[in-house]
Amino acid sequence: MIKPDHITTSTCPYCGVGCTLQLHVRDDFIYKVTSPFDSPVNHGNLCVKGRFGYDFVYHPKRVTTPLVRRYLLEGKPKPEGREQVYAISSDGKPIPDSQISNLWDWVETDWDTALNFVADSLVRIYRRDGSDAMAVYCCAKATNEDNYLLQKMYRALFRTNNVDHCTRLCHAGSVVALQQAIGSSAMSNTASQVIMNDVFIVTGSNTSENHPIIALQMKEAVMKHGAKMIVVDPRRIDLVDMAEMWLALKPGTNVPVFSAMAHVIVKENLVNWEFVKNRTEGFDEFLESLEKFTPEYAEEISGVPAEDIRKAARMYARAKNGAIYWGMGISQLSHGTASALALIHLAFLTGHVGRDGTGLNPLRGQNNVQGASDMGSMPFHYPGYMRVDNPENRAKWEKAWNVEEGGLSLKLGLTTTEILSHAHEGGVRALFIMGENPMMSEPNLNETRRHMQELEFLVSQDVFINESGAFADVFLPATPFAEKDGTFSNTDRRVQRVRAAHPPRGLARPDWEILCDLAKRIEARLGRTNSAYWDYKHPEEILREMAGVNEDYAGITYERIDKVGLIYPVPDLNHPGTPTLFTESFPRGRGKFHQLDYVPVMEEPDDEYPFILTTGRLLEHWHGGTMTRNSSLNEIYPEARAEIHPADADIHGIKHGDPVRLQSRRGEVVMRATITEKTSVGVVFIPWHFAEAAGNLLTNDALDPQAKIPEFKACAVQVFPARDGDLPNPEVMLDRGRY
Ligand code: SF4
Repeated sequence: MIKPDHITTSTCPYCGVGCTLQLHVRDDFIYKVTSPFDSPVNHGNLCVKGRFGYDFVYHPKRVTTPLVRRYLLEGKPKPEGREQVYAISSDGKPIPDSQISNLWDWVETDWDTALNFVADSLVRIYRRDGSDAMAVYCCAKATNEDNYLLQKMYRALFRTNNVDHCTRLCHAGSVVALQQAIGSSAMSNTASQVIMNDVFIVTGSNTSENHPIIALQMKEAVMKHGAKMIVVDPRRIDLVDMAEMWLALKPGTNVPVFSAMAHVIVKENLVNWEFVKNRTEGFDEFLESLEKFTPEYAEEISGVPAEDIRKAARMYARAKNGAIYWGMGISQLSHGTASALALIHLAFLTGHVGRDGTGLNPLRGQNNVQGASDMGSMPFHYPGYMRVDNPENRAKWEKAWNVEEGGLSLKLGLTTTEILSHAHEGGVRALFIMGENPMMSEPNLNETRRHMQELEFLVSQDVFINESGAFADVFLPATPFAEKDGTFSNTDRRVQRVRAAHPPRGLARPDWEILCDLAKRIEARLGRTNSAYWDYKHPEEILREMAGVNEDYAGITYERIDKVGLIYPVPDLNHPGTPTLFTESFPRGRGKFHQLDYVPVMEEPDDEYPFILTTGRLLEHWHGGTMTRNSSLNEIYPEARAEIHPADADIHGIKHGDPVRLQSRRGEVVMRATITEKTSVGVVFIPWHFAEAAGNLLTNDALDPQAKIPEFKACAVQVFPARDGDLPNPEVMLDRGRY
């Protein structure tokens, strides 16, 4: 048996559950991952990603040396044909090397050279075109400290709020709805409180695959504690087997179903009137708008039997402790904000919020999407959700960052999707991407590709050259979670330590170190004398700087979170943390009901495109695949599969395992079919992790007007039988990261 040199306790780099990992290290190599039984988050349990998905750290394709394009090193103008750098053309065929100018070659270099090219190029563009030409994607995989520094760099040095990250693409609808109704967008309770629920609703969340450890806790609530689970989802997800009820609604019909449940609660006088009277406002106007949402009306639109809607409403309303857990099936719609509001109304009507074992719980996707949002990696907010267009907030951060009075911008920034659609002459010219992969995560990827080609200068700071890094001018090699210190904030709002298990490979450096080094170079070129602070010796100093202004984190120190973390708000150094929010009031005072209407998805099936496509994630993979597809998990699940209902497959003559071509108005992909009753008739499901059959080539870039989140969860497609020869070669696609 191998004996470890040491065991490092850290936090999982994949999903928002935030499981505790013990990294067993021998000769600077992690050979095993376990978890302690006393972890308050996962009690020793890990899913396949946490247990086995760490070996991407040692993948030969990992980049550990700074890279610049040859044209920069040779002082030549940027050559034409940027689209060819992305070594696969839009029709999926590899472009021969001979057609690609060697001025696009990556050349290994030292840190000074790479960072000087970045600082020179960013400052040149900023001086020429101003703040609006600058934009940055922060990273939900990176630590709080990394994200805090990157948004600080762009706000304090380039005076722009064009700062965003992938929260825009997952829970922006939930965030906006919760802010409007409550004034706070985090989960109100912790996931482990599910065992206190009598009744809970799981909707738009394939929890077993996306938050597996929370799914275990949900199963425990049902099996051991007798809770009743109501699943509302178009797919027959794993949890349906244990559910009291499954409401199989059509994708995009959340508002009528949940509003009809509210209708029943009101009509059958199941309302918690004390809660409505003392804790909410806007009820009368809301009541008027609710009138038309009868269960029969909802049945016609959603396909869910009216009687099931009534039964579910009664069950949730009559519970002692009821809670709602939701995922992106609620938020990733052009009416994602309205969908989340319809859920919030149910909690207001019944008073199932503000107590242990109740709550409104949007399950956050990535390991640190909660933290990246808390750190101000968003275009409308400084750290701590302080609006950037509020002069008082601005003054606080000017003081913290040593910026002259009135120096920070009051202008709201662009969101992720807007940043790319503004990538043109007179718009965004320079983009810095830390760890994100818009060439996989944005909708309508053919359009995204065109925008990426329009950028004048692109920096990629990552562990691998992913599909987006392939467009970069400079690549800065960062360290993965196993080689750096910092903190992640999980979906429970628990701030936990991340610890380096061994030194960085090659010349790779932790993101925060790279950013400090770069910021100092930018500052020197800008000639700013009263500089913001960039000389941190350890990431804890960064966290403490942020916590000096962001009261939610005020009482968090590395010492206090050494063992089990702390759940914010932690307003002072003696505070024990706050697992349950809103016990007395909401941050905005009273909870606000909103009037809702039913708005269909932007693209409904028709004769040409008769299926509804819905996309999602798999247990074995993670997001754009930068980590999992470069890990041994890829051997377990190596290719995309399209889930098609047997009745639809029969009509189209498609058998299990046959190649199929899926076509939408925006693009097409080819993959094998899985014939399964997991999906409903008329609905096709595909995962979006696979670059060679990228689901987002098909998805619709229509946006929710308030949250600016795209409609990933529903678009119209056609399905054709294809041939084996039409299938993409994943080896060629995965080779894209070479240099
Ligand atoms: Fe990691 Fe999430 Fe799996 Fe836990 S449930 S091991 S945090 S991926």
